[in-house]
Amino acid sequence: MHTDLPPLTPGTLYLVATPIGNLEDITLRALRVLRECDVVAAEDTRRAGQLLRHFDISKPLLSYFRFNEAKRAGEILERLWRGERVALVTDAGTPGISDPGQRVVAAAVADGLRVEPVPGACALVAALTASGLPTDEFHFSGFLPHKPGPRRRELTRLTALPGTLVLYESPFRITRLLEELAALIPDRTVVLARELTKRFEEHLRGRPEELLAEARRRNLKGEFVVMISPADPPGRPGAGSENADGDGELIGGPMNTGRVGE
Ligand code: SAM
Repeated sequence: MHTDLPPLTPGTLYLVATPIGNLEDITLRALRVLRECDVVAAEDTRRAGQLLRHFDISKPLLSYFRFNEAKRAGEILERLWRGERVALVTDAGTPGISDPGQRVVAAAVADGLRVEPVPGACALVAALTASGLPTDEFHFSGFLPHKPGPRRRELTRLTALPGTLVLYESPFRITRLLEELAALIPDRTVVLARELTKRFEEHLRGRPEELLAEARRRNLKGEFVVMISPADPPGRPGAGSENADGDGELIGGPMNTGRVGE
């Protein structure tokens, strides 16, 4: 029994982070919230059902995804007003980071309802912290637009910002993105974090052209976080193309974490 833990608060929306590939990354608190809530609102009820079954949890599921977000957000708010404890989960990672969730959170906050994060896995944080790139200042922009014009404009704008740039990209567009980066910022260091927390996790570092050659050679698949070293600070040419100290050495690690081409 959880005699030493406070019960969940009625009328609260719990944002429950779930694993991004390794089920061991579920937190004890996430499991307790999923066990004790009244309903689980899920981006994909089939996926959420699998997760719950794995942990032997049986709970009513409510579908909450992009195309019925507005309708379901209203329904979730009604449940919260009735005093229900609602756990929101998305397909993977932290709800609201490049996935549905933001709308219902904004609506709950606007209504003065209680929203509690249940932190855990997030691809952005996992990738950035293992990248070896500066973490003191970074800019996260999720997925780029798909259409060529808006995409080029957005990439040009983002690569001019200070700090490390962090993007999410699908396996179908990773070579396209590397081609775009090779044309736009050929001298900056790019880190590809692939299949984080999964069996074939790797962190590939190099110039866009080098990574592009590697991606084509190996036909890289899986999920990617793409990170780009900061632009050169004014008066320090070359600093942005290597690590934070600018000493030309990137940090290695236990996996395939070296520079491509070494
Ligand atoms: N909410 C999630 C989070 O907290 O990171 C992100 C959801 S977004 C729809 C999915 C994207 O996150 C993928 O396309 C990929 O860019 C990134 N991602 C998720 N899991 C990943 C993993 N295991 N390895 C690398 N990137 C991952």
